[in-house]
Amino acid sequence: VSFGFRDVRAGEKAGLVRGVFESVAPKYDIMNDLMSGGLHRLWKNTLVDSVNPRPGMRFLDVAGGTGDVAFRIHDRLRKRWPENPVDISICDINAAMLGVGRDRAIDQNRLNGLTWTCGNAEALPMPDQSFDVYTIAFGIRNVTDRPKALREAYRVLKPGGRFLCLEFSKVVLPGLDWIYDTYSFHAIPAIGGLVAGDRDSYQYLVESIRQFPPQKTFADELTTAGFARASYRNLSGGIVALHSGWRI
Ligand code: SAM
Repeated sequence: VSFGFRDVRAGEKAGLVRGVFESVAPKYDIMNDLMSGGLHRLWKNTLVDSVNPRPGMRFLDVAGGTGDVAFRIHDRLRKRWPENPVDISICDINAAMLGVGRDRAIDQNRLNGLTWTCGNAEALPMPDQSFDVYTIAFGIRNVTDRPKALREAYRVLKPGGRFLCLEFSKVVLPGLDWIYDTYSFHAIPAIGGLVAGDRDSYQYLVESIRQFPPQKTFADELTTAGFARASYRNLSGGIVALHSGWRI
């Protein structure tokens, strides 16, 4: 596992976000399970189903944090094509999150095929047209200049490459919206305070979810960034949406 640190200057929101994730990094994985009741695992599996990893493909997981999505892609490739080399880059603005991910990779004996880079989604330290798949899970809402990050995603994808994004979205099931709002507003900061000792960071996470645009608006942003066939699929009644776009 190589650990190439390339710190890229970021704006004010990025600075704030960095602080939040620095603070949550050590408890991040357990908190994910606790707060989503384990559902984040299903959502990430659905994302990787759509990625449909094949040997020879180059993957970039942006805001890759502690490596959850990258590890799932890694598992699928290793299971089906154990002899083929794997090429997955994980990029995140936060070195603490990457550090936890790298340690997990070592613990899980994932020694080959993963590259860890510290960088900003708005200015990716990667060359043009270098990846077949760009994934971002629960990361895009933290980015300050989202159109810029989407243009960057487009830039680094090869023609024929695919963009896939998992993000909290707008609940579309009547009744569920009320339950979800109440849960996220009251329970998530409380659990964050109790378990991670950091209520404020989890309060920020809830706010950032509320401010993120609904499904169709975000799909239109993909189109504006140049992606073809921008589409989305609601998961768990729209608690999360999986957006897709192609560079053609
Ligand atoms: N993708 C991982 C997952 O699903 O478990 C981590 C998601 S975590 C909620 C959000 C991640 O986005 C954090 O690791 C944070 O450091 C990263 N992040 C926030 N702003 C970023 C930016 N501008 N560029 C790259 N990564 C960013």
